[in-house]
Amino acid sequence: MVKSPEEEHPQKAFGWAARDPSGTLSPFHFSRRENGDEDVTVKILYCGVCHSDLHSVKNEWGITRYPIVPGHEIVGIVIQLGNNVKKFKMGDRVGVGVLVGSCKTCETCQQDLENYCPSMIFTYNSTSQDGTRTYGGYSDIVVVDQRYVLRIPDNMPLDAGAPLLCAGITVYSPMKYYGMTEPGKHLGVAGLGGLGHVAVKLGKAFGLKVTVISTSPNKEDEAINKLGADCFLVSTNPEKVQAALGTMDYIIDTVSAIHSLGPLLAMLKLNGKLITVGLPDKPLELPIFPLVMGRKLIGGSDIGGIKETQEMLDFCAKHNITADIELIQMDYINTAMKRLSKSDVKYRAWGPIDPTEGFIYLPPNRSYYHIQKPYNVPEDRLYSFIWSSQAVGYNYSSGVWQFEGYAYVPYGTTGVCITQVFGPSTPHATTLMLRVYNGSLMYYMGPALVPDMYNEWFRLNVIHDVDAGKV
Ligand SMILES: [Zn+2]
Ligand SMILES: [Zn+2]
Repeated sequence: MVKSPEEEHPQKAFGWAARDPSGTLSPFHFSRRENGDEDVTVKILYCGVCHSDLHSVKNEWGITRYPIVPGHEIVGIVIQLGNNVKKFKMGDRVGVGVLVGSCKTCETCQQDLENYCPSMIFTYNSTSQDGTRTYGGYSDIVVVDQRYVLRIPDNMPLDAGAPLLCAGITVYSPMKYYGMTEPGKHLGVAGLGGLGHVAVKLGKAFGLKVTVISTSPNKEDEAINKLGADCFLVSTNPEKVQAALGTMDYIIDTVSAIHSLGPLLAMLKLNGKLITVGLPDKPLELPIFPLVMGRKLIGGSDIGGIKETQEMLDFCAKHNITADIELIQMDYINTAMKRLSKSDVKYRAWGPIDPTEGFIYLPPNRSYYHIQKPYNVPEDRLYSFIWSSQAVGYNYSSGVWQFEGYAYVPYGTTGVCITQVFGPSTPHATTLMLRVYNGSLMYYMGPALVPDMYNEWFRLNVIHDVDAGKV
C-alpha cells in the first residue's frame, strides 16, 4: 500500500485532532517532515486556544480537512536546527503564530507582509510546499522554516505570551498601520474578549485614553481595575452612548457577532477611524451618513507579518504586556472548547486564577502558603471525589465544619491542594485542603465553611497546588 507523505515523514509526532464536524478532539499519532536546512524543530510547551480553532474543528468556515490538529499560538523551545539556521540556537525560546510559510518572492512577502501573501501557508489545515498537510500546535513538536519562527523575549512568560502570537498581533498591527498610537488620543475598544483585552493593554502602553465598549455591564470592573481602561461604556445603555458620541479618535472593533457599525461610527470624532478585526460570518449594517458627515474611515486588518510580530512581542515584553490566561491540561480541551463556544470563558482559554480566590479560611498558624501553579481537574473527573463512609463532620470550636474522607487525585499532583467544593447543598463555594500521600491519595485536613455539605455529591475543583514542604 502506498503511504501518504504524512505517514512517511520521519519525525514521529503526537497531538490532538478532530476527525469530524463534531469537533471533538482526541489523541492522534502522525508525523512531521524531516528538519530541513532552513528549519527548526520546536518542542511545544504551550499553545493558546483561539476562537479560530473552534471554528476550524467544527468546519464552520467550510474549509476544514479532517483530521485536523488546530493551534496557532505556539510557544516552546528549539530542539533541532537546520544547517542554514542562523537566527536561532538550540534551547531558544520561540513562538509560531498563524502562518508557517509564504512564497517569499511576491510584493507583499518582500515588504514583510507575508500575512497577505496569496500563497500564505497557515499553521494548520493548510498545504505545505511539499504538498503535505499542516498540523497545528495541539501537539508535541512542530517543524517550521526559521523565517516564520518568532523569538520570545527573555522576560516574557511562555504561557501568557502565547496568545500574543495571534490575538496580540491582530490588534497591534492595525494600531500601528492606521496610526492609532498618538499619546493622549482616545481609543475605543469594542468587545472585551481575547483580542479586546490585549488592545486595552496596548492602548495604555501607547499612552492613549482607552474606553471599553461592551454589551456586558459585568465586565466593567475587569476593564477598569484589572486592565487599566479609563472608561467603560455599556453599548446597550442609550444615555451612555449618547454621552460618548463624537468623543473618540479611533475605535478597534473586535466583535465577531453580528452588530451594526452605526453606533460605533457615531462615537468617532471628525476624521475618526473605525478598524474592524473581528470576523462576523455575515455582512454588517453600515449606515453611510455618520461615515460621510465626519470624513471618517473604516478599515480592516488581518494578523501581521513576521517582522511586525517580532516587533509586537518585543514591545509587549518591554511594557510587561501578556495575555490573561488560564492554564488547562490537554485532556480538558473538549470541555474548554465547549465553554469557549458559549463564551463562558475569560479571554482566550480560561480566565486567570487569582491565587487567593477560594481562600475562605486560612488557619492562623499557616500564613505561609506558597502557590505553585494553577491546576484544573477536567470536567469529567469532577465527580471522582469519593464520598466515603469515613466522613465525619463536627463543629470546630471556631464554628466551622470539618469532614474526613479520601479524594481522587489528578495525575501529577504533588503537595497539598486547595480546592473549592460545590454541590447542591453547598450553594457557596468553600475551601478544603487535601494532602497528597504517595502521590495518589489525598487526605482531608482542612476546614469547610458550609454546614450540611455532606448530603450530596460534591464537585471538586482543584485550584492550586501548594508546596507540601511549607505546610
Ligand atoms: Zn487565532
Ligand atoms: Zn508571497
